[in-house]
Amino acid sequence: MDSIQLFVPTFRVDETLAEIRECLEKGWTGLGFKTVQFEKAWSEYTGLPHAHFLDSATSGLNLAVKLFKLQGGWQAGDEVITTPLTFVSTNHAILHEGLTPVFADVDEMLCLDPDSLLSRITERTRAVIFVGLGGNIGQLPRIVDICRERNLKLILDAAHMTGTFHKDGRHVGCESDVSVFSFQAVKNLPTADSGMICFRDPELDREVRKWTWLGINKDTYTRTLEKEGTYRWYYDVEHVGYKYHGNSIMAAIGLVAIKYVDEDNAYRRQIAAWYDEAFQVEPRVRPVRMSADCTPSRHLYQVLIENRDLGMAYLNEHGIYPGVHYRDNTVYKMYEYAKGTCPNSHSASDRIISLPIHLRLTEADVKRVAAALIEYVRK
Ligand SMILES: *Cc1c(COP(=O)(O)O)cnc(C)c1O
Repeated sequence: MDSIQLFVPTFRVDETLAEIRECLEKGWTGLGFKTVQFEKAWSEYTGLPHAHFLDSATSGLNLAVKLFKLQGGWQAGDEVITTPLTFVSTNHAILHEGLTPVFADVDEMLCLDPDSLLSRITERTRAVIFVGLGGNIGQLPRIVDICRERNLKLILDAAHMTGTFHKDGRHVGCESDVSVFSFQAVKNLPTADSGMICFRDPELDREVRKWTWLGINKDTYTRTLEKEGTYRWYYDVEHVGYKYHGNSIMAAIGLVAIKYVDEDNAYRRQIAAWYDEAFQVEPRVRPVRMSADCTPSRHLYQVLIENRDLGMAYLNEHGIYPGVHYRDNTVYKMYEYAKGTCPNSHSASDRIISLPIHLRLTEADVKRVAAALIEYVRK
């Protein structure tokens, strides 16, 4: 029996190779050229006016926190409210800037719970990070209102959200002060590693382009000297920046993938519908609901079951390899000060399974996975 993996990215190989070939023939694989084209294609696709292409979403989250901290004059120990049920990249971004992650709990959709968020706000709260788990918007609209009322920055970790649309048809990101997308190898728009940061404030968009290239301000030479066509080494270095920008090879892969992402996500939603249907007969398998206020990208299809680890082993024995997104981050030593503060996250952390969801799965594959899981919970 063939094994069924959690994620298998699908690339349109010939089209992608043709796009990469252009880079190789031109002799331009780095920053510029395709990265500029991809930023433009992304803005057109999402309607987000400012988009800067990065080497990863992790870099983007780091920069989002850093730039708001600088702009707002935040001090060490100021607080950012976040979820424990995420990839550690989200929360490391807060620690990297010497700020304090304050964990709020998740709701039944496994996204930040607005009531829990309200209970965590203090004098020192500066920002909220919302993670759209699996492509879900959860109760994001309420969180947008809370952030506006309390004057908190809203950072959207949209790593799973390429192709998630609000019910009014707008792509996610339009509601937040910044949104960060991932095009890592197994995300909905796969490259190998890259990401996009989209600030609302055009000034921060200008700033972030310096920070991703060691703090170099290209405008200084383009404005003053480059018109002479020379002296390109007379740029100014404004910050102790990073090497976080994306490159043309990744952008070339992304330029093809973006054309197919809506079609691909529609098939992911079809897979989710097949799973939903199969689990209707078995209340011991509890699918995690998506908000009806969005068309989700369906990066994940998650269910909750009892005795999860044994369930995973059972599925593995049947050639099925699901995943877990994620363990409650308070199990890791740098976040353990918050252990026990988020009971829903803690409980979900022991029960969630992400079932296989990718474009090569057939309806029969989905039924095989569902049947094996149902068999397990009935044992
Ligand atoms: C994948 C992921 C990231 C990091 O993305 P990279 O592009 O791999 O850096 C951040 N947050 C979440 C929720 C993710 O799933």
